Amino acid sequence: MPTHTQITRASRAARATHKPSRLTYATLAVTPDDDRAYEQAVVQVRASLGQHFSNWVNGVARTATQEFAHTSPVNTTWIVSYFPQGTREDARAAIHAARAAFAAWSQMPYRQRIKILRRAAEMLFERRYALAAWMAFEIGKNRAEALAEVFEAIELIRYYCDQMETQRGFVLPLGSPGRGQKTTSVLRPYGVWAVISPWNFPLALAVGMSAGALVTGNTVVFKPSSEAPVLGYEIYRALTDAGLPAGVFNLVVGSGATVGAELQENPDVDGLIFTGSYTVGMQLYKTFATQFPKPIIAEMGGKNPAIVCASADLDQAAEGVMRAAFGFGGQKCSACSRVYVHRRVKDEFLRRLVAYTQQRVRVGDPTRKETFMGPVINQAAVNTYIAAVQDARQSDGIVHLGGTRLTDGDLAHGYFVAPTIIELPKNHRLFHDELFLPLVVVADVESVEEAVAESNRAMYGLCAGIYSRDQQEIAYFFDHIHAGVTYVNRRAGATTGAWPGVNSFGGWKASGTTGKNALGPYYVQQFMREQSRWIVMHE
Ligand code: NAD
Repeated sequence: MPTHTQITRASRAARATHKPSRLTYATLAVTPDDDRAYEQAVVQVRASLGQHFSNWVNGVARTATQEFAHTSPVNTTWIVSYFPQGTREDARAAIHAARAAFAAWSQMPYRQRIKILRRAAEMLFERRYALAAWMAFEIGKNRAEALAEVFEAIELIRYYCDQMETQRGFVLPLGSPGRGQKTTSVLRPYGVWAVISPWNFPLALAVGMSAGALVTGNTVVFKPSSEAPVLGYEIYRALTDAGLPAGVFNLVVGSGATVGAELQENPDVDGLIFTGSYTVGMQLYKTFATQFPKPIIAEMGGKNPAIVCASADLDQAAEGVMRAAFGFGGQKCSACSRVYVHRRVKDEFLRRLVAYTQQRVRVGDPTRKETFMGPVINQAAVNTYIAAVQDARQSDGIVHLGGTRLTDGDLAHGYFVAPTIIELPKNHRLFHDELFLPLVVVADVESVEEAVAESNRAMYGLCAGIYSRDQQEIAYFFDHIHAGVTYVNRRAGATTGAWPGVNSFGGWKASGTTGKNALGPYYVQQFMREQSRWIVMHE
């Protein structure tokens, strides 16, 4: 048995050799070879739009009584796919299959499980361009960000496998209670986990949550978002092609009201992991466990502030805020949606932020290389955008940039809006409500203390960033900000850009239930419960 020190050393060594991918959200380094392969994939995916898909339970396709058509936010005349409207019965069958598969999967040596999952990561790598192209058609994500998301999904699998390996399956010898006696701490899987994912990172988040559950020996019923079901199916396909036994991972596309309801109410679901909005996450948190406590991990929304101090490098701050506010059209839980800037530098900061946005943020077809920002996800998002701009104008807001829907030329059939920068009084609701749109509000403050206090007034506590050259201001920020993910002087994104094993990601307060971040060293443990073992050996 390895000692605790040996395990810690092994884990440190593995972390040191764990090289992140070259293409990340920070680098967005798409090579000419990537461009060529991606463009070919776009042609192929475009030719395969409009296919009919199934749900998959116990390795078998389920015939559907009703289907829905999913249209592209880039052009609503394009039908991307037809998927079954999953029912409660489908969800029940999937839970049953996952329960039946649990014994064999959980008893399989963890190294064997890891082999299968690493093969799935390879499948995703082989299919990376097609996956990125599907992401453009399904949810409107641009080329570089979609490719980065595929790499993140791959890294997530690898990182969680590494965690399991370096911790030797989480079997840890404890101090001996006496001669001829042995004690051990063993982390063991719970059983069947429901995985419910959002549409905005349809691959990385769903893969991350599922890999966490699977590598630790649980089985899964996976409900992807109905806005991104093809990517949900692609996860199923990669795992199956990698050799995952039937029933270990089951795909059920369907609404929250049917499939979602069954997953949270069925007593045979042992754990639930969710990423999505605060409203749905809190409802799940309150209703999932009834008879006795069951684990629920809910990662929810954000209203992420950037603080720009008088001592800041304003150029760095303006670019960092622009990237975090308008990357993927502000539709990231980590998007920077509010800025508190010191009164003395407010005008200059705003001037540079507007200039950067005008220069860099080209809106259009997400498959084109030059596009920075594609469409927003649906008509409801457009309506929220229009209402927010109207509200700001009626509240003496100054719209420095944007504020309109875009309908020129090719944009006419999609959900396109302009990147928007609005100066507002800081007590306005837009400083606290998550919009999930390319709209950032800005207010001035007198000090870092005031900026942090304003930041903390929102119920969310996901990401926060600061720009400052003053070490005391930075120390104050770290000590007082309510946020699970923090950034200082980051040009690549004021509040965005996590990476497995490099920058873990999770929320405090209304942004998350567990206080343990995904992508980090305390994540996979949450899918297991501890069994403490005391053995008295016979002489
Ligand atoms: P959403 O809450 O509307 O949906 C998320 C998932 O929950 C979907 O699969 C949906 O079908 C399902 N669902 C809806 N109602 C349900 C119910 N009653 N029971 C069970 N499942 C139900 O969120 P969304 O619009 O897909 O995603 C955007 C939200 O997700 C934003 O608030 C964003 O901040 C958040 N998000 C958070 C993180 C994070 O890591 N904290 C990451 C990405 C997105």
